[in-house]
Amino acid sequence: MRIGKNLKLSVKTVDSENRVVTVGDLEVGSDLFIVIAGPCSVESREQILDVAREVKKAGAHMLRGGAFKPRTSPYSFQGLGVEGLKLLAEAREETGLPVVTEVMAPEQVRVVSEYADVLQIGARNMQNFPLLREVGRCRKPVLLKRGLWATVEEWLCAAEYIMVEGNLDVILCERGIRTFEKATRNTLDLSAVALLKHVSPLPVIVDPSHGTGVRELVPSMARASAAAGADGIMVEVHPRPEEALSDGPQSLRFEEFRRLMEGLRPVVEAVGRRV
Ligand code: PEP
Ligand code: MN
Repeated sequence: MRIGKNLKLSVKTVDSENRVVTVGDLEVGSDLFIVIAGPCSVESREQILDVAREVKKAGAHMLRGGAFKPRTSPYSFQGLGVEGLKLLAEAREETGLPVVTEVMAPEQVRVVSEYADVLQIGARNMQNFPLLREVGRCRKPVLLKRGLWATVEEWLCAAEYIMVEGNLDVILCERGIRTFEKATRNTLDLSAVALLKHVSPLPVIVDPSHGTGVRELVPSMARASAAAGADGIMVEVHPRPEEALSDGPQSLRFEEFRRLMEGLRPVVEAVGRRV
């Protein structure tokens, strides 16, 4: 394992314990395998409330949903913005599920942290250094996604930017990297999970939805994530994926999410955790 010398706070020292990140009454990085579920984008009040109720019933611990969306094309749906944040807060109010949502720019950090329980830094912003520093100065936990092109060391350096500002509550999220393979949207690097659990005290979760881009592959990669030692998963769920405004092909229907949870449980228990 070759991991650089620039890393201070995001790597284990001889006597350091694994970091547990507290979100409400949940502990990320504990024996509880965390399941974060929800749509790629918040699209409407009805959609987000419907998803929140269903994933809660199926056993999810947190709700995800993008209000500010980092879309490849400027002509694609960009998210509902602050209105989307308010809808997420309403869904939390009703279900009790803490909310994870993306913040794309330093000037958005304030408003997003008013509504969110966890601030997501998207893959495309993994090296947006002013943004990393800004979330480092706020008190909300940060879910830091791996850049599409980032080495594990570069990813940990990004975590350092947040931590050096005083916010040690960083959760790493493996979401697949770009390779020559075209059959899947990305190549899910589960070896990075095993590597990180060796070298870093930070919790690591996996996003098999973006990691594969293919709905049918999500449940098996979710189970593989648990087996590889991940501390949780984040998956996209939509009431009608065919009508989704973003990432429909990788989003699970409610019934598919319920089945994912059922299949996951024995694997999580086999590695000595609970879900
Ligand atoms: C997302 O979580 O919907 C997202 C945009 O993910 P990523 O930044 O990993 O592409
Ligand atoms: Mn998405």
